[in-house]
Amino acid sequence: TGHLLVVGAGQAGVQLASSARELGWQGPITVVGAEPHAPYARPPLSKAFPRRTADSLSLRSDGFYSENTIGLVLDEHVEHLDLTGRGAGTATAASGRRWSFDRLVLATGAVPGRLPIEGAHLDGVLVLRDIHDAEVLTRYLSTVENLVVVGGGFIGLEVAASAAAVGVRTTVVEAAPALMNRVVSTDTAKVVEAAHRAAGIRVLTGVRPRRFIGGNHGAVTAVELDDGVRLPAQLVLVGVGARPRDELARAAGLHCDDGIVVDAFSLASDGHTIAIGDCANLPDPSPIPRPARRLRLESVDNAVEQARAAATTLVGSPQPYRGVPWFWSDQGSLKLQIAGLACASDDVVVRTGSRPGQHTALRYRDGHLVAAECVNSPADFLVVRKALTRSMTLPRDAAADTTVPLKKHLV
Ligand code: FAD
Repeated sequence: TGHLLVVGAGQAGVQLASSARELGWQGPITVVGAEPHAPYARPPLSKAFPRRTADSLSLRSDGFYSENTIGLVLDEHVEHLDLTGRGAGTATAASGRRWSFDRLVLATGAVPGRLPIEGAHLDGVLVLRDIHDAEVLTRYLSTVENLVVVGGGFIGLEVAASAAAVGVRTTVVEAAPALMNRVVSTDTAKVVEAAHRAAGIRVLTGVRPRRFIGGNHGAVTAVELDDGVRLPAQLVLVGVGARPRDELARAAGLHCDDGIVVDAFSLASDGHTIAIGDCANLPDPSPIPRPARRLRLESVDNAVEQARAAATTLVGSPQPYRGVPWFWSDQGSLKLQIAGLACASDDVVVRTGSRPGQHTALRYRDGHLVAAECVNSPADFLVVRKALTRSMTLPRDAAADTTVPLKKHLV
């Protein structure tokens, strides 16, 4: 017990405070966040373009924090940590405000990557991570004719679909040969690409921007690609992945390597400090964690589930973080749901559904079902999650038979 300080008032930090209280943490809990808004959900920021207010995105009701005696401190950026041993120490904010703590949780999230190329700081070259970014993006979208999205990952494609739906001419530029290259099979990428093209979005793969060109007033007017092509653009959204916010941890001497390195109990290298959510680099929590690997997971599911597991560490009944990671992405008419974590080398069994755009790619490793990518196939997604969480399977040869619903193959 004692004072529990959580730095970062996002999805993971709020869940941790809430779970720690629920599990019986007796002492004071303080959650400090750098943003001025009450903690909110980020996924809607890139989806169905939002005339949403910060209030409508709130993760918890107004009364939640006082009812659970969780101190919520907003608009304070923790700048320095002093770890004095056995997990205790002091945190100092840029304003000079200071908190001593007996246990510390770092839930500092991630920052969007930017491109180190000419014109990267022109007006109209944007990234999307927080409410402020979303407000700026929405303002631009109501006035511009051409949008170039750099990066064909989830956020880029969600914004592209939302922008095209409101009549903005949209081009997606992806350096890899396929969309969502790091995360889904090429079969799934093709289905998604076809749907975006059908919605009028231009998709260019295997090409990257060389520079952003500005007009007289410092505003972007075009994107020049490395093959020399120039795309007109009054707005550019850079969605090239995010970098973990691990500066505080590094400066405090905690081991960091693409995020704050933690074990299955979310403990950092000092054996006391906890790190969770987008900022953490953790052992793969999947039920079939072969090959053994470490990774960062940027999803609501991970923020919530890792925080829940980490709370058990704090209250002295540690349970390792295990689970089947899952993720969703809404892109125009497509609802993509992914269960499990595939490797590029995993086999793919494709089931094409009867409705247009309906597609499921089952992923197998050494004959074991390890993941699935489901497009507009929520029933398949539920079956796969069930299989993976209950150590059941979908035999590979039978699963390819699309005349039989997937759930009938579950054994
Ligand atoms: P965050 O939610 O980023 O919270 C970290 C907080 O810590 C921030 O508020 C930050 O300001 C604060 N902070 C950082 N450093 C300090 C400091 N030194 N002092 C004080 N405060 C600090 N996931 C899905 O599963 N499905 C989706 O469809 C999906 N869509 C997304 C769309 C967008 C546009 C974005 C940006 C993310 C999306 N995600 C989605 C990812 C998901 O939102 C993140 O994985 C999740 O928010 C991670 O939670 P977190 O608490 O680790 O980090």
